[in-house]
Amino acid sequence: MIKLGIICPCYNEEEVIYESASKLESLIKSMDVSHDSFVVFVNDGSADHTWDIITELHNKNPLFRGVNLVFNSGHQNAIMAGMMYAKDKVDCAISIDVDLQDDINCIPRMIEKFKAGNDVVYGVKVDRSSDSVAKRSTANGYYRLQRLMGIDVVDNHADFRLVSNKVLNSLAAFKESHLYLRGIIPSLGFKSDIVEDRISERRAGRSKYSRKKMFKLATDGITSFSSVPLKIVFWIGVVSLIVALINAIDVIVALCNGTAAPGWSQLMLSVWFVGGMILIAIGLLGTYIGRIYGEVKNRPRYIISDKLD
Ligand code: UDP
Ligand code: MG
Repeated sequence: MIKLGIICPCYNEEEVIYESASKLESLIKSMDVSHDSFVVFVNDGSADHTWDIITELHNKNPLFRGVNLVFNSGHQNAIMAGMMYAKDKVDCAISIDVDLQDDINCIPRMIEKFKAGNDVVYGVKVDRSSDSVAKRSTANGYYRLQRLMGIDVVDNHADFRLVSNKVLNSLAAFKESHLYLRGIIPSLGFKSDIVEDRISERRAGRSKYSRKKMFKLATDGITSFSSVPLKIVFWIGVVSLIVALINAIDVIVALCNGTAAPGWSQLMLSVWFVGGMILIAIGLLGTYIGRIYGEVKNRPRYIISDKLD
């Protein structure tokens, strides 16, 4: 029987934990999974009674476990902490937001797909009508932007997903501090599938994703997977240089015809030329910094999927 770990990141979630815990408990009871399956709540440095509630739930029922983070490390890091807790304890782990906006009835279907040989099963939102129009359209624009930058992400998938023990072990090698799991997990290249997820509204409390947090996630998503922005700077420099050359012809013609205002030609030329050179230099520097950045992150050079000992 499959040993399952469900990972719930929690940040100031005292209003929803009890109800989510009881829903998850009845779901696990109804499923054909091993008795040492568990739900681990990761308290992401909450300022309310979240950790006290987690402790209380654990004392009543060992099905519930907890990981307490000292300070607020963010949603992605909280999920990572939960996954590293579950590593070596489970056959597969499912991360789901503790507000259970995702449909928990997807979980048995995820397990079926795992049994069928998938190492990753993504929950993909099919109906986002409970998200605001603004959230939906920024999300869609962001998926498109990521695709443009050459980043492989699963559309309409947040962090509701099943990963196998193999994936958990591979993730342990990713030491970078600016985590973007939605980009890392597809890049591992394990066999994957999706389940359709009908999301609902948050039952209680407010969204814990402030605009600032959303913006950080969005920039992490691009800068940890793509150096396209650096290249754009370089190409803008090249274009300015070309404009300077075209301008040079114009200036020479004006000088020959005697129609140039004194000093104008030199000024125009040097503005475009120097601007172009500076941007190219910055772009080049940026390219090298991008490389150094890539090295500093210390990502694994290869991922082992199987071993024959
Ligand atoms: N969360 C977290 N740390 C944070 C912010 C959020 O662990 O710094 C958790 C939060 O408790 C929830 C999940 O991440 O379980 C998603 O947050 P939320 O539901 O507020 O985001 P939304 O659904 O509005 O995008
Ligand atoms: Mg939510």
